[in-house]
Amino acid sequence: MNENQINNEEISSKLSCHKCNSLNYCTIGRPNKKIGNCPMIINSEIQKEAKALYDADDFIKISTAVASIVEAKGYIHWPRLKDTIEYAKGMGYQKLGLAFCIGLRKEAEKIAEILEKYGFEIFSVCCKTGGIKKTEVGVPKEYTMNSITGYVIGWITCNPVAQALLLNKYKTDMNVIIGLCVGHDITFTHLSKAPVTTLIAKERFAPHNPASVLFSHYGQAFFNLDLEKMKKEIQ
Ligand code: SF4
Repeated sequence: MNENQINNEEISSKLSCHKCNSLNYCTIGRPNKKIGNCPMIINSEIQKEAKALYDADDFIKISTAVASIVEAKGYIHWPRLKDTIEYAKGMGYQKLGLAFCIGLRKEAEKIAEILEKYGFEIFSVCCKTGGIKKTEVGVPKEYTMNSITGYVIGWITCNPVAQALLLNKYKTDMNVIIGLCVGHDITFTHLSKAPVTTLIAKERFAPHNPASVLFSHYGQAFFNLDLEKMKKEIQ
């Protein structure tokens, strides 16, 4: 058995909070005893470990308090950008890094302008910095220049590594992701020394609103077709 496989015992106890009506349970401070795998019951030692960290780790303590104060102060009234501003202020951050996608340069410009008005020092880095060819970082040639769906995507790679290293060099206090691709955002977060928040999650299907596919007819139609295609491919 390799490390990615889990045995039957683990499968029956794997985490599945999405199947629980948590509003009746942990949201009001109690575990769900009706299902067999509530982590408040079967992983009580981890709950204790987590609780202890809220006391022992100063970053966690302050960040948790600041995030909750922002939530309480601006609930429903504030856009996420204002939440981000207030969180950064609450944490005492001055220097903010913007790791942005070339497709959202205008948005990055506007965000920088607003953040500067709030008194932050801004350091921004475009995803194409470095100008490295995709083929030089291992991308097969057929996946460069034009997408399989027929759009021009170019031959220069996104460079989340340089984005993170540059912002590390300038010692930003917090970095903000503006539309980095799935995967590039992970690489960026993996290397960033400063804490990272996502202001805009890239969504090419429905402009930067990944949640829009979940309950729309179009999203449902897409996944029905895609899953059907996948089933045919493995038959
Ligand atoms: S922690 Fe327990 S009560 Fe909360 S959502 Fe998960 S299973 Fe339900």
